Amino acid sequence: MQKQNMGMRFSISTLNSVILLMLSVAGGYVAVEAQTRVILLGTGTPVPDEERSGSGLAIISNGEAYLFDAGGGMVQRAIEAWQTMDAEELYPTNVKHLFISHLHSDHTLDYSELAATFWWRRTERLNAYGPEGLQEMTDGYYAMQSTDIALRTGGNQPVKDPTLYKVNVNEIAEDGIIFDNGAVTVEAFSVSHGSIHPAYGYKIVTPDKSIVFSGDTSYSEKLVEKAKGVDILIHEVISEEGWKALPPDWQAYHRSAHTLTSELADIANKTKPGFLVLTHILHYGAPIESAKTEVEALYSGKVILGNDLDEF
Ligand SMILES: [Zn+2]
Ligand SMILES: [Zn+2]
Repeated sequence: MQKQNMGMRFSISTLNSVILLMLSVAGGYVAVEAQTRVILLGTGTPVPDEERSGSGLAIISNGEAYLFDAGGGMVQRAIEAWQTMDAEELYPTNVKHLFISHLHSDHTLDYSELAATFWWRRTERLNAYGPEGLQEMTDGYYAMQSTDIALRTGGNQPVKDPTLYKVNVNEIAEDGIIFDNGAVTVEAFSVSHGSIHPAYGYKIVTPDKSIVFSGDTSYSEKLVEKAKGVDILIHEVISEEGWKALPPDWQAYHRSAHTLTSELADIANKTKPGFLVLTHILHYGAPIESAKTEVEALYSGKVILGNDLDEF
């Protein structure tokens, strides 16, 4: 599946990197960077899958990467994107912005991986945003790597700044815009993810694209409000065919924590995104394609079954 995507990926990323829009300004020309790149770094779930990393999304705008979630394997996907998709912004030490939707392991296992990878070659700290509890998780990473940190900073290894393994942690206090650099804004909004509080979805607006990333959520009115008319809606989903075959206790759990395909079709009909990308696809015994087929049965807009390293 991934090999088939390679050709498409290469052509889109090459196009993105070489196209410059020439704008006439006061009689001269100014080169403006090409469009925002949206790359899926992980479309998986806690269920092990050789083709899918844990949750991860990259948005690249004006030479900066904005990462959403850090599920297991997503750092390796970022390295793949750097090497095969001309995405220098995703080289681990170049990443400065990470936004975590919630603290489930399939969204955080690569958090320390991202912060620690080649940290002694960083020029700036990683800035991480996420729910309450993120600082405690970060302190856990420092403790886990304390031996490595002591060895690298206490011996003869050249290290310019011995504090760059550290992360600037920003725990989100309330819904609203949590990042704004004048060109890119990131808005956090609370979603309903079973018993885990808080859990956030994110709305990202760049100079040329609006994107909503659901994180993990059951049907959310808040998300419907935020996603109306966005260019890209990237939403988690659970196949109804797969869900129906589960034992009652698991059905009840998933009903409270995730979005059934019929509910996602409803969300898409209400929000009318430019296109809908399915990610974090729980399907259990049913084929993964059932998630797309079921949504398409109730929604006539464009639906894409997301795969790791797909680019939009
Ligand atoms: Zn979750
Ligand atoms: Zn999850």
